[in-house]
Amino acid sequence: MGAPASLEDQVLEVGRDLAAALPSAARRPLRALDDRAMDLATQDAELRAALFRFVDVVPACRGVDDLARHLTSFLGEVGDHPPPIAAAMRVSGTKAGRAALGTAAAAGVRHMAHRFIVGETPERAAKVITGLWDRGIATSVDLLGEATVTRAEADAYAARCAAALDALHRVHAPLPARSALEQDGLGPIARVNLSVKVSALTPLLKPEAPELGKRDAATRLRDLLRRARDQGAHLHVDMESLDSREAVTDLVLELLAEPEFAEGPSAGVVLQAYLRDSPDLARRLVRFAGETQRAHPLLVRLVKGAYWDHEVVEARQHGWSEPVFTVKAQSDANFEALTRLLLEARAAGTPLRPAIASHNLRSVAHAVACSRALGLDDQDLELQVLRGLGDDLQDALATRGLRVRTYCPVGDLVAGMAYLVRRLLEGTSNESFLHERASGVPLDELLAPPA
Ligand SMILES: Cc1cc2nc3c(=O)[nH]c(=O)nc-3n(C[C@H](O)[C@H](O)[C@H](O)COP(=O)(O)OP(=O)(O)OC[C@H]3O[C@@H](n4cnc5c(N)ncnc54)[C@H](O)[C@@H]3O)c2cc1C
Repeated sequence: MGAPASLEDQVLEVGRDLAAALPSAARRPLRALDDRAMDLATQDAELRAALFRFVDVVPACRGVDDLARHLTSFLGEVGDHPPPIAAAMRVSGTKAGRAALGTAAAAGVRHMAHRFIVGETPERAAKVITGLWDRGIATSVDLLGEATVTRAEADAYAARCAAALDALHRVHAPLPARSALEQDGLGPIARVNLSVKVSALTPLLKPEAPELGKRDAATRLRDLLRRARDQGAHLHVDMESLDSREAVTDLVLELLAEPEFAEGPSAGVVLQAYLRDSPDLARRLVRFAGETQRAHPLLVRLVKGAYWDHEVVEARQHGWSEPVFTVKAQSDANFEALTRLLLEARAAGTPLRPAIASHNLRSVAHAVACSRALGLDDQDLELQVLRGLGDDLQDALATRGLRVRTYCPVGDLVAGMAYLVRRLLEGTSNESFLHERASGVPLDELLAPPA
């Protein structure tokens, strides 16, 4: 069922206004080069696959010669080379050529990584965080690293998270007050916002034994919740692939309902709209927010979902029906339905903070228009983007006085490789909004309702 005409008009108006506020490509010449490289990869599926495999092995490479060997061997499997790649292949025949190629390749990967990763440590990310705050943009810091294998790794990740909370507290304490980022109709909003992954807090998160993983992660997550509460920080739990969704959701909601966390911290979970059964989880979250006596509203970050390829492959391997929508427009339409569901709960007085996380101008414009149509104030809606993919949108939203939070990954290249590959996959997917926009699809087509 389509939205009423007046809401559609509003979506168009908000979307056109945001589009007018997007910075022009000329202001970011280096970004245009990256986009060109991404474009090359989008046009050629084999090249795309080869580059992803290369990015995966970069951290394990012993030196530039090794890097060049891997790069040329992956690229060697690609049928026809576009001219820049053919030139690279030609120089790889000599040791000196391989060294030059390896150095260039390593620099390229590092450059790409810096687009998405703000620093190796929270201290090194301080300049970016402070700069964004000065421009009216809040952040959520994500410590890179996922899927730990041993308890020692999980302990180390938990310790890094605890240290990050302390460091972020020091970074944010001297920042000037910004009421638009620190207050909404439900009360104060924490300055420090840390995103964590449960798969990094325990090596035991297995679908066949969810209780074991939950119990093991609970001890580490409980400590982080205590620390966040004592410092007045927000702790957000990211969502990963479907096989851990139930354990992660149960774990977070059970801990937040414990009496010791009634007064804090502010905390949140993630809802993935590409999952066919996501409306059930959305209703559960709304019920939890309404029924659980907590001093802080539950923050629900609505996303489409970053593990689409994984979920499809996994289901097909087992002969299961796909748990995700397989037509992109269905994910987009469900995203809008869930946006409305969360905003309606908020408008009805449920202590819940919807955070709409998307780089899709249509999805974002729909959220803003829907929120206004429900009589909510703009400050009651949070919009979120990823560093590196949503920089232009982030600036446009801040220019228009909307509250925007940028998700800023922190960590080294090795820890960041899985993250980087997911972002590259997104950036080079033919179906992604960003790709459609970059390929010149007219604005009103981009803003049309998902069909
Ligand atoms: C601040 C922030 C935090 C995030 N945190 C998480 C998180 O915790 N967990 C998580 O999983 N993701 C997370 N994401 C990533 C998010 O799920 C999306 O992958 C990403 O934002 C792209 O969606 P989009 O709306 O920006 O772009 P769009 O281009 O509009 O949508 C792309 C998305 O559509 C879906 N899709 C693609 N092809 C198809 C298809 N054929 N059929 C059906 N659906 C399809 C996929 O979900 C894909 O990511 C986060 C994103 C942001 C901005």
